[in-house]
Amino acid sequence: MGSAREFDVAVVGASVAGCTAARLFAQAGARVALIERHSDPAAYKVVCTHAILSPSTATIERLGLAPVLDERGAIRAGAEFWTPYGGWIRLPDDLPDAWGVTRRTLDPALRDLAVGTPGVEFFPGWTAKRVIADPSRVAGIEVEDRKHRTLAIRARLVVGADGRDSTVARLAGVPGRVRPHNRFFYFAYWRGVRPATPDFRLWLLDPDGAAQFPNEDGLAVLVATYHRSRMAEVRADLEGSYMRHLASLPDGPDLSDAERVSKLIGKLEVPNVIRPAARPGIAFVGDAALATDPLFGVGLTFAFQSAEWLVDETSGALGGGQELDDALRRYRRKFLWRLGPHHLLIADFSTGRKITLLERQMFRKAPHDPVMRRAFGEVLARESSAFRMVDPRVAVRLLIPSRPRRQHDLARTHPAGTSHRRVPGAEHDGGGVLHRSRPGDQRLLR
Ligand SMILES: Cc1cc2nc3c(=O)[nH]c(=O)nc-3n(C[C@H](O)[C@H](O)[C@H](O)COP(=O)(O)OP(=O)(O)OC[C@H]3O[C@@H](n4cnc5c(N)ncnc54)[C@H](O)[C@@H]3O)c2cc1C
Repeated sequence: MGSAREFDVAVVGASVAGCTAARLFAQAGARVALIERHSDPAAYKVVCTHAILSPSTATIERLGLAPVLDERGAIRAGAEFWTPYGGWIRLPDDLPDAWGVTRRTLDPALRDLAVGTPGVEFFPGWTAKRVIADPSRVAGIEVEDRKHRTLAIRARLVVGADGRDSTVARLAGVPGRVRPHNRFFYFAYWRGVRPATPDFRLWLLDPDGAAQFPNEDGLAVLVATYHRSRMAEVRADLEGSYMRHLASLPDGPDLSDAERVSKLIGKLEVPNVIRPAARPGIAFVGDAALATDPLFGVGLTFAFQSAEWLVDETSGALGGGQELDDALRRYRRKFLWRLGPHHLLIADFSTGRKITLLERQMFRKAPHDPVMRRAFGEVLARESSAFRMVDPRVAVRLLIPSRPRRQHDLARTHPAGTSHRRVPGAEHDGGGVLHRSRPGDQRLLR
């Protein structure tokens, strides 16, 4: 027979979504149990390419995480996309910063903050095993450690922040809706990649893809994305396929002076899964609520956002009962309204279908049409709803004939790496211009 404890909130999973929820709940005055199956407080998620989009920035700042990440050398990033139909599309530079920081740095830093927040009690090395249910609602979670000791954690609210294969959802009987995904990924870490840009660079190759994500300490992640139909061919010669894929990228990374500093890391199955983000007494945040295709780098952003929305909707209602359930319903609606349309768009694209005529037309327009570029940029940065593209002021731009495409349109319309974003190790010249401070790399960064 195990022992029992009582809290306002029990959060299962001490990664990005769970630590965000735990810290913000505790700062709002709640007593929080933060439960994590890994016993090492420095544990981090290995299979991730670390791009954090601009809508996370407000949450990162609210958590007090921004100065910590800055101190560790995180990149303040912009972003640009390449398509075969119009070349580069640069996201508007006046969006809030995106972030490039490895999970090896991010996860322990955020966990430190969460665990150090008064009101949070951390349970490392404990795994959620059973949901405690009062007849009509979830009332807590039973956890077990490596020695098979059990502990009943009773809480008014249980939060499943336990990732894409959420055990909490399974235990609570909240199934997800699965949408198919037809791409797979291989990536590795590099140093010395040129351009040493502070921008995320994404190639949408119809149907394959690729990405370059800058991180702290001069590390760049180079990702090759393939359509599922190529699985046997790629896996027959993994190293060769990966290097050929990178070498074939239009305006791709220059690896002549670069060194690969990791083995290849692969992820073959990433189905899109969405589930109701709340039921009486229980809520889901991050991947446990919505695990989506990693191609567009949205998972971390959705994790920060969903955790914050949950806290803002429910922290004033932790007395329990009807008030809490109403707050949970509001959270569930907000989650669906804000992320549902993005999810449908991403899941549809993740089937590996060909790019449609309408999308081609948008890709052709966006590099040259400021209204289209902004709308496109806001949707891809997840700053605006996917509905932004059907705003008549944007849609009407598609009716204006495109100018004939010239060869140079497919190359960049601006030098790679031109951005107002901050690159650690760079310094201002007083005129808003950044110079790299590393010897031998004095290219101007506008
Ligand atoms: C190949 C790949 C590349 C990606 N690249 C990006 C990217 O560039 N940008 C981006 O935004 N997203 C990316 N993602 C997605 C991103 O990794 C996830 O969206 C993000 O990790 C979700 O965070 P989370 O906190 O919800 O869950 P997780 O980070 O998965 O954390 C879940 C936590 O719960 C714990 N846990 C699980 N079960 C239990 C249990 N029973 N009891 C106790 N604890 C438990 C786990 O140990 C873990 O700490 C990528 C994903 C993949 C697969």
